[in-house]
Amino acid sequence: VQWFPGHMAKARRQIQEKLQLVDIVYELLDARIPYSSSNPMMNEIIKHKPKLIILNKADIADPNVTQQWLNYFKQKGQPVITIDALHQNAIKHITEASKEILKEKFEKEKAKGLRPRPIRAMILGIPNVGKSTLTNNLAKRKAAQTGDRPGVTKAQQWIKVEKELELLDTPGVLWPKFEEKRVGYNLAVTGAIKDTILHLDDIILYALDYLIAHYPDRLVERYNLSGQFEDKVAVLDEIGQKRGFLQSGGYVDYDKVYEILLREIRSVKLGRLSFELPSDIPTSEEK
Ligand code: GDP
Repeated sequence: VQWFPGHMAKARRQIQEKLQLVDIVYELLDARIPYSSSNPMMNEIIKHKPKLIILNKADIADPNVTQQWLNYFKQKGQPVITIDALHQNAIKHITEASKEILKEKFEKEKAKGLRPRPIRAMILGIPNVGKSTLTNNLAKRKAAQTGDRPGVTKAQQWIKVEKELELLDTPGVLWPKFEEKRVGYNLAVTGAIKDTILHLDDIILYALDYLIAHYPDRLVERYNLSGQFEDKVAVLDEIGQKRGFLQSGGYVDYDKVYEILLREIRSVKLGRLSFELPSDIPTSEEK
């Protein structure tokens, strides 16, 4: 998806229409890069709607770092859970957290004599955070139920997830952050944006820098390296030599090294990695 101001305004408008139908919003983030995978205007768009942050892809993120993010959001009073969108227990997790967040609202409705009703929710997030994967997981349990709701122009489809939870079948797609260079690299390394937007070699050098700083042992182990990390090109050379990615004349084929590194980072060959810490959030963004 290419995002232009017109597209953003339209996405925002469509989401705000649907927001009227739901009790709670699920902000889906990539657990490996929770800040980089957030939409810059999320809170402005959803206003005062209750929000549950769902750190998805927790199965491939560094568990220690994920714990830091959980603490970070909890400290701010922001409800948060981690899931793996493909896993069966994601459903229970989400339902329980939603009930907890909306407990007061539903108790008030009950006290007013209103009939108990399921919680209505919608998923929001930037491309590639796992919105469709999660929706499909939630939908396949019970056959997706459809139903028109009065007062809605376009027929909305609701997926009955649990007795107590209904999900809007189409997630809201929001644009990613564009401003910060670091964010762009994080989105590229994790595969959220197409590799072609940034130069592949820049993405790899960024990722390599991060791995050297945070996961040097994983690099050493995976590529059987000497552990000398002062010179990045020398590290690429070493990986190329060890893997036999050589061109005629014995020169290292860097394109091959880049490709392998990126693929192995994404496919957890270097273990579960995270690329962002709560302390990476610019202070100007702290609200
Ligand atoms: P969407 O654009 O937000 O709808 O994202 P998708 O649902 O299409 O997911 C993007 C990619 O991430 C797909 O390749 C999914 O298989 C993968 N994915 C989604 N959720 C998870 C998860 O929890 N764990 C892992 N390991 N991969 C996931």
